[in-house]
Amino acid sequence: MENNKGVLVLFSGPSGVGKDTVLEIVLAKDKSLQKSVSLTTRGIRENEIDGKDYYFISLPEFEKMIDNNEVLEFARYGQNLYGTPKAPVDKWLSEGKTVILKIEVQGANNIKKLYPESVGIFIMPPSMEELEQRLRSRGTEDESDIQKRLEIAQDEIGHSKDYDYLVVNDDLEKASENVLDILHKLYK
Ligand code: 5GP
Repeated sequence: MENNKGVLVLFSGPSGVGKDTVLEIVLAKDKSLQKSVSLTTRGIRENEIDGKDYYFISLPEFEKMIDNNEVLEFARYGQNLYGTPKAPVDKWLSEGKTVILKIEVQGANNIKKLYPESVGIFIMPPSMEELEQRLRSRGTEDESDIQKRLEIAQDEIGHSKDYDYLVVNDDLEKASENVLDILHKLYK
């Protein structure tokens, strides 16, 4: 682990902030970046692809991977488990790649302990009102899930000070450019 040459980037932000879209733009603009595909026990959304957005697996499968030490970190978010597969991340880092983990704050904390050199970027909403509106308008969660996600969001924003960089997503293009600038400073 100590011999890693690549940079590990922790990319966090509350649900609905638009971090997936920001990340999509960033990855399209810089093909050298490597995004880790997480494991999750949550159900697949209509627009998602298994193996691209997540590896959608069952709880027993997830638990088996934890037992086999195949998961770098994992966290419970709402009713589900989310985690980072270990082998690909180790491989990419040893190849000197910049590896991006889309991760909630608890997982990011755990990774910081394992990889103190990792760099955290937190995507902030312009306001809580705007966040709630975005979360509702995407229409992928029911009311109780939305309430739970807003509650988690408050807590996550409280942890944003632990990150190296904060980027406010009030404009997708601007936020993506900011993230790219940060990443380029890290490895150029
Ligand atoms: P969603 O259900 O909206 O796709 O994701 C819920 C939360 O799980 C988001 O904050 C997302 O960043 C986080 N998440 C996604 N993948 C991972 C992972 O591998 N590990 C951890 N700890 N959190 C993750």
